Amino acid sequence: MARRNDMEGPHHREVVLEIEHIKVIRKRAKTNLRFCRDCNRTTDFISVAGAADLFSTSPLEVFEFTQSNVCHFQVGSEQTILLCLPDLLTAMGKRMKGTVKLIGESNL
Ligand SMILES: [Zn+2]
Repeated sequence: MARRNDMEGPHHREVVLEIEHIKVIRKRAKTNLRFCRDCNRTTDFISVAGAADLFSTSPLEVFEFTQSNVCHFQVGSEQTILLCLPDLLTAMGKRMKGTVKLIGESNL
């Protein structure tokens, strides 16, 4: 039986692993119930600022995201842009490869 050359030593090596942790974060947001023509039902609408807060990003990024994803929106009072939340969550979910879902609602 031929022995392995001792100079070589045991075959150690280094490997690199990537472990993806999925964080679950629950957030609350204030919404307006409105009729969404695109969804053809009444849905929750959220302001751009509210959505930015929800996703820890800037209003500008939210706005650009909704533009590139052709999200449902309406112009509310005082010319504020309101985004259809279910539609926004669907678009966000695709982008984040995770699940973003509405788990509850409360009437404030
Ligand atoms: Zn909609």
